[in-house]
This record gives sequence, C-alpha cells and structure tokens, in this order.
Amino acid sequence: MSFDANVIILGAGAAGLSAATELSRAGRKVLILEARERLGGRIFTRYDAVCDVPVELGAEFIHGRPPEIWDLLKKHKTVAREVKGENFCVRNGELCTCDFFSEGGSLLEKLNDRSPDESFLEFIERRYPSWKTDPKQRESVEWARKYVTGFHAADPGLVSVHWLVKGLRADEKIEGDRAFRIPQGYQLLTDIFQRQLASASVAIELNTVAESIRWTGRQVEVKARSVKGTLTFNGSCLLVTLPLSVLQASLLERGQEEVGAVRFVPELPPKKQEALGKLAMGKVIRVTLRFRERFWENLRPKHSPESKTLAKMGFLLSDENPFPTWWTTMPEKLPIITGWAPFKCTEAISGKGEDFIIDKALDTLGRLLKVDRQELEGLLGAAYTHDWQTDPFARGAYSYVKVGGDGAQRELATPVEDTLFFAGEATDLSGHNGTVHGAIASGRRAAKEILRSMP
Ligand SMILES: Cc1cc2nc3c(=O)[nH]c(=O)nc-3n(C[C@H](O)[C@H](O)[C@H](O)COP(=O)(O)OP(=O)(O)OC[C@H]3O[C@@H](n4cnc5c(N)ncnc54)[C@H](O)[C@@H]3O)c2cc1C
Repeated sequence: MSFDANVIILGAGAAGLSAATELSRAGRKVLILEARERLGGRIFTRYDAVCDVPVELGAEFIHGRPPEIWDLLKKHKTVAREVKGENFCVRNGELCTCDFFSEGGSLLEKLNDRSPDESFLEFIERRYPSWKTDPKQRESVEWARKYVTGFHAADPGLVSVHWLVKGLRADEKIEGDRAFRIPQGYQLLTDIFQRQLASASVAIELNTVAESIRWTGRQVEVKARSVKGTLTFNGSCLLVTLPLSVLQASLLERGQEEVGAVRFVPELPPKKQEALGKLAMGKVIRVTLRFRERFWENLRPKHSPESKTLAKMGFLLSDENPFPTWWTTMPEKLPIITGWAPFKCTEAISGKGEDFIIDKALDTLGRLLKVDRQELEGLLGAAYTHDWQTDPFARGAYSYVKVGGDGAQRELATPVEDTLFFAGEATDLSGHNGTVHGAIASGRRAAKEILRSMP
C-alpha cells in the first residue's frame, strides 16, 4: 500500500494533532502515522465508572492559564476547575500542613541565567556549601530539590540551571503556580482535535509504527509496520513529533534499533544529533487508586499542631519511597488518590509489571497515612497505572535540558532542508516543554514553518 500526502506527520500526540489541524485548515493534504491504537500519546485518559470521572495516566493538570489550552476550552464551552486543598508534608516522621512554595521558593528565586550554566546540584554546592549541616538551609535545599526531581522528574546532577530559570520565568507569565483540571479529562482536547481533523478529512493511520525515513530535498518516503504488513508513505515533507527518547533511540547503531525507533536515511545532521545528546528525558510513573470510601477523611495526624484531619488534603509531599508525592481530587471529594514516583523512584518499579507498581503504591500510602496495609487492600476498588519508561513509544515522561544545553531545543526544532520539520514538547522554545500546552505550541510553530516553506 502506498499513500501520498503534502505533509506526513509522525505521532498523534498534542503536537502532531495541533499541527495537523493548522495544516489542514490551510488546505494541505495531511497524513498522520501513529504507532498506538489510540490518539493522544502522553495524554492518556481512562474512565472510572464507579465514580463517574476521568482518570489520567499521563497529563492531568493544566499548569496556569496557557492560551493554547484555555482558548480551546472556551471555544468548546468548557471551564477548567482549579485545584484546591490543604497541602501536607512529613516533618519528624509526622504529617503536618505546610506551604511548599514558600519553603523552597526563596531558593529557586536565587537561580539565575546570568552566570555560566551549571547543574542544580552544582548551584547548591556553590551557594549553600554548608547545607548538609545547617538545618535551615538543608530544609530549603530539600524542598527545591523536590521541585526539580518531583515536578520536572529531572536528575539534579544533570539538569541545567539556565533551563530551570527559563521555565520559572515562563510559568510566571501564565500564573503557572496555579493548577487546573479539565472536568472531562485531558481526553477532551484529543477529542476536539479529532473532530476538527475528521471534518477536514485528514487521514490518520493508527497501529502504524514508522521504522525508516528516506529523505532528500522535498521528498520523503516513510516505511512503517502495521498489521497490514510494511507500508510505504510518500510526502513532500515530514513533521516528526516523536518523543525525545524515541528520537534518541533512533541514533543507536544499526542492528540495535528497538521498537518505536526510526532510522533516518541519510542520518540526521550532526548538529541535530548533538542537540539530542544535550537533552534528557525525565522519568515518572503515576498510579491512581480508587477506594470504596475516603478513608483519610477522619484521619487526624498525631502530632499535627493544628490537629487537623486530612479531610481537605490536596497534596502530600514526603521522602517515602517509591511514591513520595500524592494528591487527591480536591476540591472534588472523591475516594481517589494518586501517587507519583519520579526520577530515581521510577527506576525501582519500572519494568516490574502493574501488580508490582500497585503493590508498592499501597505499601507507601499505608506507611504515610499509618493505615494497615491489609485494611487498605480491603478498601481498594480499582487501580490505574501505566509504565511510561517501558512504553516503546514514549520511553520516559517528559524532557529537560542538561547542563550546558543552551540552544539544544532550538537546534532540535530547526527544520532540515525544508523537508524534515520537528515538533513535540521537547522542541518547545518558550520555556513550557514537558507540558501539553508546550506540545500544542510546538505543533503550531512547526505548521507555520511548513506553510512558509511550501511553494
Ligand atoms: C505521567 C505524566 C504526567 C504528565 N503530567 C502532565 C501535566 O499534568 N500537565 C501537562 O501539561 N503535561 C503533563 N505531562 C506531559 C505531557 O503529557 C506531554 O508533554 C505532552 O502530552 C507531549 O505531547 P507530544 O505530542 O509532544 O508527544 P506525545 O504525546 O508522546 O506524542 C508522540 C506520539 O508519537 C507516537 N510514536 C512514537 N513512536 C512512533 C513511531 N515509531 N511511529 C509512529 N508513531 C510513533 C507516540 O505513540 C505518540 O502518540 C505528563 C506526562 C506524563 C508521562
């Protein structure tokens, strides 16, 4: 089977779908090739019928008020709900309320991009040499470190301070300290794009894994594997929206390629390959547990100075492994709680199967809330998780820039000979990579580049 298009798009995540919408609107014949049996990529919404709510396995929050998402929601008469609730953390082994942002915030304000780039860990050692012995410094360092490893899922010894600053600045502009949820789940965005693409008759081939790309000036041939066998697709240009780690896997020596990785013939230019080496993929596994009741409603942490119950608990931050961070559905009072295992914690559970992950989540939650493990198990109604690390079409959660990697995102995003174009969260240039709105913005940016390049 052979198919001809003006533009072939690899990947039907937020970036690919948004680019396809813009290109088809401009009258281009677009074809999307997607390896999975579904659209959305790292947007992956399931549904819990008992609570009648969406359950996210990938993206859940809208970070702030990015126009890429809010404008779409407004147009489709949907209002996102703000996340509210009391934040708890563990101090001296006991749960108590705390304000995460003021705890680590002052340290994060000291990060700057005027000095030469350094890793977050190097910054800490330079600015707070006695942090290990000074209890006050130690506390703010620990909080800021949680932000780096927990929120960005990044290695503190690798992540670029310049990149962290860029992200903090970008967040400030969109009230990034506020978080919202889409009541119907992130799937709503995928559905909106899907409807727009269907009305523009954009062809989407699901279950179609691109394996090789032959390209020369304004001609592209993609060979892909599907249940129908090996398929060939021809276009005058290609938009690559594959996740960073999938692209990095594509650079492996021939014979070592793994599922999902694509081979470029000729190879990607050296500058592009260098850029790929300056970026890294953060690791996260999340698990959502639905219980028969909100058993934490009446739990009153023993040494909580306020003697508060956990009834209004929003987030809970701890050092407990492998799920140090948890959040509820507040302000919705549902018997649902989500555990977050970022960075090193992921390594301990990835590849071991869903039962293992759920088991470890129950262990951690039991220890944190001091609830008997068997009791928790008895209360459990359903559990939802997805291993993004072993998923061959994601190979990780979301990207970050390594120390010394200034400019790598721009290099990755740069088109090659008006034939290969690049989008996806890792190519976002506005400081919003690692997010859905960053991915949408990158798709729109790439669509503009393609339209400009076309005769
Ligand atoms: C656990 C988790 C939690 C997150 N939480 C949030 C959050 O709360 N808020 C937020 O804004 N963002 C969050 N994100 C990040 C957000 O989901 C991503 O930044 C965004 O969805 C990425 O979109 P994309 O189009 O760049 O990539 P993707 O969605 O990954 O799309 C790429 C597509 O390419 C396909 N593909 C891969 N290989 C091939 C191949 N060989 N052939 C064909 N197709 C291929 C993939 O299947 C995929 O559909 C989270 C991500 C994860 C994993």
